[in-house]
Amino acid sequence: SNIFKRLEVLAPEHVPSRLPHREEKIKELTLAFRDLLSNLGLTSIRVVVSGPTGTGKTVTTKTFGNTFKSRLKDRGVKMEYIHLNCHKQRTLYLLTMEIASSLKLPIPVRGLSTQEAFRIIHDYLEKRNIYAIITLDEFDYFVNASSQEDVYFLVRLYDELSSATRRISYIFVMRDEQNISTLDRGIRDHIMRNLIYFNPYTSLELRDILADRVEDAFQPNVVPEETLNFIAELYGSDKGGSGNARLAIETLEMAGKLAEVKNSALVLPEHVKEAFSKINKEASEIVDEISYLELHPLIILKALINLHNRLKTDSIPIGRLEKEYSDICTELGEEPRRHTQIYEYVKRMRLMGILETRQSGRGMRGRTTLISLTVPVTPEFETLITKKMRMRLD
Ligand code: ADP
Ligand code: MG
Repeated sequence: SNIFKRLEVLAPEHVPSRLPHREEKIKELTLAFRDLLSNLGLTSIRVVVSGPTGTGKTVTTKTFGNTFKSRLKDRGVKMEYIHLNCHKQRTLYLLTMEIASSLKLPIPVRGLSTQEAFRIIHDYLEKRNIYAIITLDEFDYFVNASSQEDVYFLVRLYDELSSATRRISYIFVMRDEQNISTLDRGIRDHIMRNLIYFNPYTSLELRDILADRVEDAFQPNVVPEETLNFIAELYGSDKGGSGNARLAIETLEMAGKLAEVKNSALVLPEHVKEAFSKINKEASEIVDEISYLELHPLIILKALINLHNRLKTDSIPIGRLEKEYSDICTELGEEPRRHTQIYEYVKRMRLMGILETRQSGRGMRGRTTLISLTVPVTPEFETLITKKMRMRLD
């Protein structure tokens, strides 16, 4: 390619060798974990990392974890770093299984309680003298989807295993630490003692992040300064942007692809403009989220779209939504979920930023929850939902 040298450097899961403007956060993490070394086995550390999407929480905790691991190795301490996404593993049981499989520890899949499984994991670490830092990424989802009891179990592990050597420490990564404010005070204080906040990036910070990617991903001299600055200013929080590095990198990538298609020797601001409008911040973030949804939440979205089209209103009472939802289920030959489950799905999608909910005010009989989509109901959006629904039905 005349434009790209290594396109994979622009993929969201790529971990770059440097993290400009997050050195300080890595230091803070290292400081928070300092006691782990000086009190080996006597203390379990818990840290909360919070901040909006695209501020580098995932990439920074991963980098910290792996650096810390090799530092401990140099001192003859065995440590495993385990990074789990609660968006994918939503229950305590699934998380536990995932921890076991990260440790390559065979656990019988059925017939074990989480407590028993955790004990097996702990014995395994004990026998091999291994310590573990477990990052629970997108922890908001776990808190939202689990019982207090399960959250307690995770967080207060060593109250259950009181005599055990402290082998497991946690990093809880959250979009919004307010999501644990609903938990009772005991748990909250337990988790919140170390809070590390990630600010949205400014345009100067984004510029540096993008410059590294340009160097690694593009042919020499195809991305002019002006183009870089242009992207950085589109997203910089100081310029009214979201400060989201993920979207900035995505824009850079798409601008490069557009330049390539147009046989341009350079990636120009005009390519950035086109890329920017294509990406359309909200839509792209949400599409990403939607691809994780199961069938029934998708049917709920479909029901909202139908009602939106039919009633020409944005706010739909939940009762109305449930009726439409169960009609679609009948059409599809699917057993409709119960009210409480539907409520859970709605809560989860609100957390994902797809839905908004509010209580009806005066003028409506009784009080009811009104639900609206946060994205415009475009034909593209409808097609996307229908397509995902069909994929789940196959
Ligand atoms: P979050 O988890 O906060 O949503 P991510 O860690 O996924 O954010 O970062 C989003 C994207 O931006 C990833 O591709 C990541 O590699 C990149 N990124 C974020 N911060 C930096 C940084 N300081 N330096 C280099 N790349 C970064
Ligand atoms: Mg993340």
